[in-house]
Amino acid sequence: MSALKAIINAHLTANGAMTLHDYMALALYHPQHGYYHQDQVIGQDGDFITAPEISQMFGELTGLWLAHQYQLQHLEDKAILVELGPGRGTLMADLIRAWRQTSLPLPPIHLLETSASLRAIQQERLTDLAEVHWHDDVSTLPDQPVLMIANEFFDALAIRQYRLFQNQWQERGIQYDNENNWVLDWLDIETSDAFPAFLYDQAQNLNRDKDQMITYAPALAPITKAICQRIADHGGAGLIIDYGKSDGFGDSLQAVMQHQSVDPLAHPGEADITAWVDFSHLSQMAEQCHCAALGPVPQGQFLKSLGLLERAEQLGKGAEPELRRRLVSEVDRLVNPAQMGQAFKVMAILPDAYAKTPQPGLE
Ligand code: SAH
Repeated sequence: MSALKAIINAHLTANGAMTLHDYMALALYHPQHGYYHQDQVIGQDGDFITAPEISQMFGELTGLWLAHQYQLQHLEDKAILVELGPGRGTLMADLIRAWRQTSLPLPPIHLLETSASLRAIQQERLTDLAEVHWHDDVSTLPDQPVLMIANEFFDALAIRQYRLFQNQWQERGIQYDNENNWVLDWLDIETSDAFPAFLYDQAQNLNRDKDQMITYAPALAPITKAICQRIADHGGAGLIIDYGKSDGFGDSLQAVMQHQSVDPLAHPGEADITAWVDFSHLSQMAEQCHCAALGPVPQGQFLKSLGLLERAEQLGKGAEPELRRRLVSEVDRLVNPAQMGQAFKVMAILPDAYAKTPQPGLE
């Protein structure tokens, strides 16, 4: 049995049950055995592949979108570039390269990353390219204008799932079945002061006949607010790219291992466990901080409107057929609705004052 399974068993034996949130937090973030602390999780040889790992054009175009905001808002030398969950550092490396093609000075880079092994990869990749700082938590980010990017970050936050069953709030958790296997089940809970008001609002629209559930990531609010506060106070912008939808209803819990979908309870610490991002929660948090949230728009639409096809053409000009074929396949994976083009969404966060200005990719 894996070390993490033993830890979870000890907890279940002592307490009878564990919330899905606590399970996910251990499976992903346990400092020794958590999934994000393993080597080789992202990329062709890992468990899943992300847009920046598919194509350099992803980091280039999103980087130029942020550079445009830098210019538009006259942020000059006060701004910092922030990435939440930079993975292997690929997006930031491509962004830096594209930024350097502009005449703008490159702001210092601040990365939010909890995993030591991913930090080591980022360090190797980026320290020769720019001034880079790492943070465990958003609270230590400097209080300055922020240009932020977060790709497949919010889907990695541990979730809580709730339902109202016969007027009783229940939270999804893990218990033993009769044969001592772990199963997902519903646990009755007290709705105390700690119960988020946000959920009561959502509950008004719950379809109770269908035992509909609400999926909620508690860490989303403090992280988003910390970024939005800086954008509202000093200027800046954020781009959030993730698979998700415009509410938190239903179950989108999933686990992936070596590019295959697996049972979320089967391989704690060895499989990536994620859930769809609730973009309405992101926009509510932005609005609470007096920022505007634009979108979400489908990733395919966003990238095409920023000039993905033209960039691919430029890279392919006079190139070997092999490279040209690769570029066609990269474009297809990023924009085809059957691939990442539709399920992945892009949301932009801006100071209220810029919300009326047409923004590239989000018209
Ligand atoms: N953005 C990258 C990687 C996405 S994987 C890409 O597109 O390839 C998720 C990343 O977020 C990993 O780097 C993981 O370690 C980091 N991460 C997840 N939850 C985090 C948290 N709460 N705080 C900081 N980093 C986190």
